[in-house]
Amino acid sequence: IKIPHFSNMDYQELIEEVYHEVQAENLKGKVADYIPEIASVNPNQFGIALVDLKGNVYGVGDHQVPFSIQSISKVHTLTMVFNVFNTKLWSRVNVEPSGDPFNSIAQLEYEKGIPRNPFINAGALVITDALCSKFEKPIDQLTEFINELAGETCVKINSEVKNSEKNHGARNTALAYFLKSYKNFNNPIDEVLDLYFSHCSMEMSCVDLAKSFSFLANDGFSVFANRQILSESSARRINALMLTCGFYDEAGEFAFRVGLPGKSGVGGGVAAVMPHKFSIAVWSPELNDKGNSIKAIRALELLTDKLAFSLF
Ligand code: GLU
Repeated sequence: IKIPHFSNMDYQELIEEVYHEVQAENLKGKVADYIPEIASVNPNQFGIALVDLKGNVYGVGDHQVPFSIQSISKVHTLTMVFNVFNTKLWSRVNVEPSGDPFNSIAQLEYEKGIPRNPFINAGALVITDALCSKFEKPIDQLTEFINELAGETCVKINSEVKNSEKNHGARNTALAYFLKSYKNFNNPIDEVLDLYFSHCSMEMSCVDLAKSFSFLANDGFSVFANRQILSESSARRINALMLTCGFYDEAGEFAFRVGLPGKSGVGGGVAAVMPHKFSIAVWSPELNDKGNSIKAIRALELLTDKLAFSLF
């Protein structure tokens, strides 16, 4: 059904409808298997949480189950350094979609050590390096910051996932050395990688995530933290980056099918925003061949189809 004038009152009904329709489609993907801790997650889990501008929370399915947020944390780290560095950041990392896999090293060489965008691994490592430079206890401060955005203490770092990321971190280590060879890396490599693997190993539920993204739907103001997190124009820039670069090399397809700024992670989570309406997080561990959650993408596609409003 198409709902012409959707009022906030109907969000619960809407996400339940989407949830059941997606479940009925029986979509099959593959849980990420690059580390055993992620590979062993129950693949059948599926949850949706939506947060409106007033901070009302709507949820269905496994929306309260914490999961590995992985690359979605790159939005939180970018937000933290955005305020400190402002425009200076863009001399170290570009703002172009990559079209290459998230952990590609090839572009770094022909673009002389300047990553394509802050969401591919090379770019995220530069952002994590910047975080190391400006914050005394970066992981504690990052955790506190995300808790503040969510309005409660919710972030946990899974140390088994973190250690496993480290043990399978050859590619990220190579990227860091490559960046250093181009002088786009200022802190000790081990320290930055430790911080990077820590933030990738954070666990949050769909509810926590949707709350922590709420300020991006609300011109930079968080109702949970009760303060302006980013200026309106900075919040818009993060949304622009999420729309163009938030879904690995499937960002174009996601913009085409769904049309919302968002960020995915290999744990099967997606957090997205409909500016001036709501933030939403969807999680289901089975991924498509581009590494995005097959059910989460389908759920967001159905949801935007059913809504009468669009970004465009
Ligand atoms: N820990 C992953 C890595 O950097 C993050 C993967 C992701 O969610 O994109 O390899």
